Parts: sequence; structure tokens; C-alpha cells
Amino acid sequence: MPQGNGTGRTVSPASPHPDIPASSSLEAGIPAGIAIQHRDALDAVQREFREIKGTTVIIYDQTCATEKRRRRKRGTLVDPAKRVVINELVCEGCGDCSVQSNCISVEPLETELGRKRQINQSTCNKDLSCVKGFCPSFVTVEGGSLKKKTKSSGNSAEGNWPALPMPEVADVHTAPGGVWGIVVAGVGGTGVITIGQLLGVAAHLEGKGIVTQDAGGLAQKGGATWSHVLIGAMQDAIRTTRVGMASADLILGCDPIVVAGKETLLRMRPGRTHVALNAVSTPTAAFVKNANWVNPSEQCLVDIAHAVGAEHVGAFDADAVAVKVLGDSIYTNPMMLGFAWQKGWIPLQLESLMRAIELNAVAVAQNKLAFEWGRRAAQDVDAVKRALNPGQVIAFSPRQKQSLDDLVAHRVAFLREYQNAAYAQQYLDFVSKVRAAEQGMGVAEKLPLTEAVARYLFKLMAYKDEYEVARLYTDPAFQAKVNAMFEGDFKLHYHLAPPMLARTNDKGELQKTSFGPWMRLGFRLLAPMKVLRGSALDVFGKTEERRQERALIQEYRAAIEGMLPLLSPANRDVAAAFARVPEQIRGFGHVKARHLVAARTQWDLLQTQFHAPKQQAA
Ligand code: SF4
Repeated sequence: MPQGNGTGRTVSPASPHPDIPASSSLEAGIPAGIAIQHRDALDAVQREFREIKGTTVIIYDQTCATEKRRRRKRGTLVDPAKRVVINELVCEGCGDCSVQSNCISVEPLETELGRKRQINQSTCNKDLSCVKGFCPSFVTVEGGSLKKKTKSSGNSAEGNWPALPMPEVADVHTAPGGVWGIVVAGVGGTGVITIGQLLGVAAHLEGKGIVTQDAGGLAQKGGATWSHVLIGAMQDAIRTTRVGMASADLILGCDPIVVAGKETLLRMRPGRTHVALNAVSTPTAAFVKNANWVNPSEQCLVDIAHAVGAEHVGAFDADAVAVKVLGDSIYTNPMMLGFAWQKGWIPLQLESLMRAIELNAVAVAQNKLAFEWGRRAAQDVDAVKRALNPGQVIAFSPRQKQSLDDLVAHRVAFLREYQNAAYAQQYLDFVSKVRAAEQGMGVAEKLPLTEAVARYLFKLMAYKDEYEVARLYTDPAFQAKVNAMFEGDFKLHYHLAPPMLARTNDKGELQKTSFGPWMRLGFRLLAPMKVLRGSALDVFGKTEERRQERALIQEYRAAIEGMLPLLSPANRDVAAAFARVPEQIRGFGHVKARHLVAARTQWDLLQTQFHAPKQQAA
């Protein structure tokens, strides 16, 4: 603890952060003369302190994200009526928000126009650091609350379900040594440990022997987490605290990536282990680091089936069902518990599990309902799918395959709105020219170069300047999306860095500021001014960023045009790779500028490759 010569600093996420009271516990007892600063100042404080001779101390105080969520759920920490939403129309998928926040609640969203970002409202800690991502895509919704699922939305199929048959409950005596080993495997912060506790309490209520041990990421949100549960007919039968190698009778798999990891696979044995699996994985920390990350859920399923035999795996998209039925993916794990129980893979009675949920005293009705839906899925997963049409709610789905004509038509219509019919025609004419050249090679079945140009000439032409951002914010689709998510009295705040008004940081980068609901009026006024785009009256168009964006369109067209007369089956893939490079030029301002530098290097390499004389065969 630095003592009061006034040179020390303590840095904490203190006020004005909304869920830290002005006089936090940290402030109590801090000697006078020692400042408390927001964690944003940590870098600056570290730089300052490294210049001070002698010993310096920085205390970084921050409540663990999972603990915060737990306290909010139990009502011991204020839950601010503030949520973040990303306008995916504006989002460029650059990933800066993931980098800034290091948060896995910023998830990929696959759209017709490429991968964007969305906030997983179920797991969001309201830390709001993602808002620092340098782009105008973020709005904060202040006031109101997330819409609750109602009978008419989530549980419309509730009345149609026949009574579920009671399964043959597993008998601990049938397990080797009379001890039933369960490993609950999932992601920290999603209730993995709670499932272990529920199993423990239920076993205790039945007078069975029970040992549970939690391992791994524990409260670390996003980390792999396991809860080992050993259930014996008698306490004395249990001689370890963890499920040993090849000794699991059940893997309750809440996340496929964790289940397919070495630590969990080692507990499985073909012929003994059953796996109840939530089939779709939460995007992992890998996505935070790599904007092009691909969810490996399908491969995980293959690996797990290989480890225990496909007939011993029961899998369904519990996450999607939980969101659809209960409006929150936090109910995925109790749903998996119900699924495994109905399969007869848990040696405990229904009554004791229900009582354990009651004794847990958190969202009892919802947890019981989730358990019930898990049972239904175990009984007839197709009926659950039909009832809920979960195809609509699985957000992480591969980009839909569409015909080239559809792809082009969609973008022509977009550019007409973006600027005007003439602008859209320029796009169409160029794509048609490339198409004719590619078809002229006599390879008609697939046109990779034309498809690439159709996607990325569009991306370059639809650059998001101030008029476009305003147009996209006044698009009724965005307001409808927000209205569908929230209820009550809420207001939208926009986080923008207008070039003429925004402050810069010490690196010269523009900084975002929050604008209130009146900004919507500003957007309405600004959107029609797109007619000025590129003209002498275009005040926004004079910045370096906008000039570069306009120049890039011409550069790209000229480079592709230069390739067309030389196009051959041998170099077409290189030309297509060249045409796809703008995929990487994502984001806004300094983020986009950084990506452009990398893209230019790639372009140079591919240009050289395209024009290089063919190597003579030795
Ligand atoms: S544009 Fe980039 S920073 Fe903004 S929301 Fe999309 S991915 Fe995040």
C-alpha cells in the first residue's frame, strides 16, 4: 500500500463507472493524497511510475467478471440499466472491440455482407469496454430492460407436450467400484460449477456418498472449467476427489470445445462413458485474437464420437433452445442436466434434483423449465426442433450459399440506396465486364474472380462515411431490432468520433464521445446529404481517410482491369485472391488504416505473382 507522500496512485475501475459507487470499498481507508484512477489510466500510470526512482506500488482492484454477474443475479450489486448493442449494418467486422475489451461476449455474427459482431446479452457483464472499439457501430441502450420471453413467444408449444415417460434411472452399483463418475465440462461463468453443486445436493438428499471438486478456470469467464462429481452408494466407497482417467460414466458437456479437449477426453472410456453434449460452442478467447476464427464445433463432435462411440453421444443445440425458450443461454447447462437425466445417465431421482434446484434458490422456475426442455430433447429432439424452429436462432451459421446473380442483385440494390442508380450501374458494369472475361476463358461452371470482384468492389464502393453511417442508423431495420430486444422506457446513446469534433489521444487517434438520443435527429438530417458525397460541398469528404477510400476504388478497378487481358486458367486463382484482399480492409479510422497497410503488402505480392513469367519445368 503506498503511503502518503502523494506520489503513489491506486488504479481501480472506480467511479464514474456505473456499477461502482462513488465511495467504493477501495477508497475507504486510503490515506489522503493518493489518487484513485480508472483502469483506463493504467498504461499512463505505469509509464509515469517507471520514471520514478525507488519502489513504486500500483494496486489494481477489479471484481472478477463472473463474481459481478453472480452478485447482480443475487441482488447484492447494482445491475445498471444499460446494455450495449452493435448495429451490424454499420459494423465492419474489424474486431477492434474484441481487442479493446478482451471479452468473449463480443461474438461473431455471419451476415450476407460478411462476418460482423454482436453482443451476447446473456453473458455480457456490462463492462462496456467493447464500446471503446473504434467504430460508430455501438449504441448503449439506457433504461428499460431486455424483453422477457412470454408464453406467446417462447413457450407456445408448452401445452402440446405429452407427459414424458420416466427413464430407467442409472444405478451407482453398476459402475466399477460402485462409484458413478460425472464430469461437468464447460466454460467458466456459465454455471458449470452450479451443476456440480446441484448434483452434490441431490445426492446428499438421497443419502448417497458424494464428492465434488471443481477444476480449471473456475470463475474465469470464458476459461475451460470442470466440475468432477463422484456419487457412491456409500460415502466410504469414494476414495478420490476427481474422476480418474477413463473413469467417467457421464460427461455432461456444456461446451464441445472443452469436451473435445485433452483434459476431458482422458476421462472417457469407450463402452463406459456417455456424453450429453451441447452441440454448439461458445466462441472462445481465440476469436478475440483472431477475427477470422472458425468455430470448430462440428470437428469436436467427430472427435468425441470417436472417443466413446457415436451411439454413446447425445447432442443437441441446447444453447439455441435455451435462448428461444427462456431468453438466456445461461439455462443451457440445467437443460443439459435434464437431457442427461432423461437418457438415464444420472443415478439420482427426479424429486431430489428438483429439490436441489429449489434449495439453490436462484431462478427456480426457469431452471426447472430448462431441465424439462432438456428431458424433451432427450426424448424427441426433432419434436423440440419443430416446436421451436431453432434454425432461426442459431446465430453462428455459415454464410448462406447464394447464386452469383443474387449476390450481385443484392449489392446493386444496396448501392442504389447508398448513393443512386448511376453509382449502382457503375458497379454492375464492372462486374459484368469481369464476368465476360472470365467466362471467355471457357470455364463457365464457377466464376471465382467474378464472385470476388462482386463482393469486394462492392465493399470498397460502399465505404462507410458520415452519410452512410447516418443512413444505416435511420434504417428502420435497426430500430425494429432494438424494439424487439428491449421493453420499457429506454433511450439510445451513440458512440461516435466525428472527425471535426472528436478529441485525439496521445497517439493522435480520434477518441469517441457519447451522444444522446437527439443524435437520431442529426442522422436524419445527415442521411439525405449523401447527394453531396464526393462533390466540392462534401465537407466530410475532404479528410485523408475519405480521399483514400475514394482513391482505393479506382486503384482496385484499374488493377483488376489490368489483369483481365492476361487472364488464364493458370493465373485465375491468383487474380481471385487479389480481388479478395479488401476483405481484410476492415474498420474505421486508424484501425482501417492499419489494415490497409497490411492489404497493400498482400496486393503487391499477388500482383508480382500474377505478372511473373511462368517457371520453366526442369
Ligand atoms: S466495426 Fe469493428 S470495432 Fe466496431 S463493432 Fe464491428 S468489429 Fe467491433
